[in-house]
Amino acid sequence: MDELSIQLAAKMIDDSEYLVALTGAGISRESNIPTFRGEDGLWRNYNAMELATPEAYANDPELVWEWYTWRHGLIRDCTPNPAHMTIAKWEKDGVLKHLITQNVDDLHYRAGSRKLTHVHGDIFGLKCTRCGYKSRLNEPSEDIPECPECYANLRPDVVWFGESLDAQVMNTVYDQLERADTIIVIGTSGIVQPAASFPLVVKNQGGSMIEINVERTALSNMADMLVSGKAGEVLPLIDQHLL
Ligand code: NAD
Ligand code: ZN
Repeated sequence: MDELSIQLAAKMIDDSEYLVALTGAGISRESNIPTFRGEDGLWRNYNAMELATPEAYANDPELVWEWYTWRHGLIRDCTPNPAHMTIAKWEKDGVLKHLITQNVDDLHYRAGSRKLTHVHGDIFGLKCTRCGYKSRLNEPSEDIPECPECYANLRPDVVWFGESLDAQVMNTVYDQLERADTIIVIGTSGIVQPAASFPLVVKNQGGSMIEINVERTALSNMADMLVSGKAGEVLPLIDQHLL
């Protein structure tokens, strides 16, 4: 990790007037939550990208539900890491105005973040596959839960590949992006749309982008400052350099 890029990122944050953050699965990697790409995304012999779709749930709801039960258990057993903690601290200190996360886990919330928008939903949320019923799981459920109103299967209240994002959620996100003069993008591959285009909104209105990742991504060419390293190590270091 390079000390100069840490210092320059800290300076950009100090100079910002409206900082927003965008996080992806990479920020939860150090809490031991698997990402979806590469080896990490394999469960039994299935690829995460084949399971997180409406078609997969329609074809084999038991299989997809089992995968979610496994993920629910994993997330319950994990704790926020120093990257989640630093982001929550920045909100408390007034440094960070809003956090947009692609993650469906609850680690940002557990770390203390409250000005928080989950663009891809909440993995513990439930919604009916037929009517508008919604609720939340209190503990992992082995069996597919049934809608108390219409008896159809409930599904996780997340956005699957091929589905569109909630319109109200998108309004909040674009409202925040339009106010931002700086965006810090952490642990996202920049492949999944539309989240991958969020930094572009900030850049197109003259704002700046800081990227933190262990590797170059589809967004790296757009970044004004790239800090290469693990989020859980980089963020606390940047924090130490803030004025
Ligand atoms: P992604 O597309 O956000 O890619 C993960 C990125 O994190 C990669 O660029 C990788 O280089 C980077 N990374 C890995 N470890 C890191 C670390 N320690 N510090 C900084 N960066 C690190 O995520 P994906 O896994 O391809 O997921 C696609 C979609 O599914 C997204 O919406 C994602 O948020 C969601 N998903 C969510 C969770 C979760 O809630 N924790 C887990 C898996 C997938
Ligand atoms: Zn129902």
